[in-house]
Amino acid sequence: MTKEYTCIVCPQSCSLTVTEEKGEITVSGNKCKRGAEYGRNEHVAPKRMITTTVALKNGTIRTIPVISSDSVPKEKLFACLEYLYGLEVEAPVALHDVIVDDILGTGVSVLAARDAERAE
Ligand code: SF4
Repeated sequence: MTKEYTCIVCPQSCSLTVTEEKGEITVSGNKCKRGAEYGRNEHVAPKRMITTTVALKNGTIRTIPVISSDSVPKEKLFACLEYLYGLEVEAPVALHDVIVDDILGTGVSVLAARDAERAE
């Protein structure tokens, strides 16, 4: 079985061809090792980082940007985003504060991507 993917690891966006034959996976079209790893992972168990914003209560800004500590299974990405859209955290928040620990049982934490002061 052969499938085509676009590598999203860097802006070069290489076109990858992943072939699976007798349980062996080969990747071609990649310009570097990171692309080979991405192609293999994307074929076997695709994952995505979470980057979004969460509502902030009593802050000098209305939302706080957040990022996951690692990637989550792609099929859980939208459920994680839905969960985060329903959250509201209290200011102040510091860079790398844990906003959600082990989001939806993925073992991945969601962290603040910046500081946010409390409004006076
Ligand atoms: S294969 Fe390497 S060079 Fe090509 S997009 Fe992926 S990371 Fe970038």
